[in-house]
Amino acid sequence: MNNIEQLQQRARAAALHAHAPYSQFRVGAAVLCRDGTVVEGCNIENASFGLTICAERVALFSAVSKGLQPEALALSCIDADVEGPKALHMPCGACRQVMQELMPSHAKIYIDSVGCLSLEELLPQGFCLQRHPPKRQSPTEPESHQTQ
Ligand SMILES: [Zn+2]
Repeated sequence: MNNIEQLQQRARAAALHAHAPYSQFRVGAAVLCRDGTVVEGCNIENASFGLTICAERVALFSAVSKGLQPEALALSCIDADVEGPKALHMPCGACRQVMQELMPSHAKIYIDSVGCLSLEELLPQGFCLQRHPPKRQSPTEPESHQTQ
């Protein structure tokens, strides 16, 4: 899939699966991976609020757990007022940090009611332990084990 509108529709559809009994704020994300696979996620809340996880991280973690390489992400907050503040539609800081770790710096993030932003625009000068994070390996490439 390379149609951005289709990717955004997948994000909106994923939001319908959200478990959001506390915020009533359903969010969906769809990650387009290098091989064309799309992986969706939705926000999943918990009565112990710290255990809640955002749609973006569910989608990204799911993609990585399948050995995929995320390259673009669509995000939709279907309960946010389309005419309301853009901040209601934006990814939180934790998700931006995870995006930086798992996506290329040129990755595009498509946000309903906001538009398209690059990851660098979403998280300028983000925290990173290395100047150039190690490239993630595909499942067919055995991970090299370094001895120290
Ligand atoms: Zn988040």
